[in-house]
Amino acid sequence: MKLETPAHSAPGDSTLRQAVAPVICYPVDGLARPDLAPFHAARAGWRRVSETLVPPREARCFDVPAGHFFRITSVEGPQVGDLNLWAAGDLSERFFSGKTRALHGTHLSSGDRMWSCLPYLRPMALITDDSLDWYGFDAFGGSVHDVIGTRCDPYTHNLLGGGQYHHCCHSNLSRAVADRFDLPLHAAEFAVHDVLNVFMCTGFTRDTGQYFMKASPVRPGDYLEFFAEIDLVGGLSACPGGDCSTLHSSDQAACHPLLVEVFAPLALPVGWAAPLANGYNRTHGR
Ligand SMILES: [Zn+2]
Repeated sequence: MKLETPAHSAPGDSTLRQAVAPVICYPVDGLARPDLAPFHAARAGWRRVSETLVPPREARCFDVPAGHFFRITSVEGPQVGDLNLWAAGDLSERFFSGKTRALHGTHLSSGDRMWSCLPYLRPMALITDDSLDWYGFDAFGGSVHDVIGTRCDPYTHNLLGGGQYHHCCHSNLSRAVADRFDLPLHAAEFAVHDVLNVFMCTGFTRDTGQYFMKASPVRPGDYLEFFAEIDLVGGLSACPGGDCSTLHSSDQAACHPLLVEVFAPLALPVGWAAPLANGYNRTHGR
């Protein structure tokens, strides 16, 4: 956080310097914004091939072949979810929350992609529908589905208040990865990464720039829908924060399950092709 009283006085041209207009770090004009119409058309007659109910304060993994859709739906009550993605068969290729944020902004919605980490950097999933897209940004600067948080975890919980809490999203995902990939828990933990905070309503305070959360506007029936660009394994934790209106990292908040459904379309969306590997040659100047 910035000092309330700076230790250094402002130079004479401070106003001029502060008035310089920002430029977008990563202009995404070169990234074609996908036309979602063929994806929506591909939903006609799709077949549900799996259903996973993620219990409150737990996580589950699910498989989504390339060319299939998956939907995360709120059921029973307001609940946020922490989503991880891995390339099926290669746990080292995982969702890159930071670069996705740099490319698409702090909160995702329809038409945004979830990108994989370096040295892969290719689309893992495309968001094809978002029933909360009406929310936009509220008066506090808050919005839903952020890529600015990390995931609640027992280490930060211990750091800030002490204690041993075992149902933070990090631990829930660690157990789910251990079960899905038959890994020892401590090895599985290293596969857990920063998330897409599905349905969570967050932002940064205007005065101090601190990460905030507020009650999610999600209601049962709301959903976020994705199209898998590569073969995926997903991991979803139903956060112990529930709707994240007050606190997390404890068993005090009202929590609800989340439903994950995977759908196979009758035909692939017209014009879609599996993403190529990133074009950088990885010689790094040597
Ligand atoms: Zn959480």
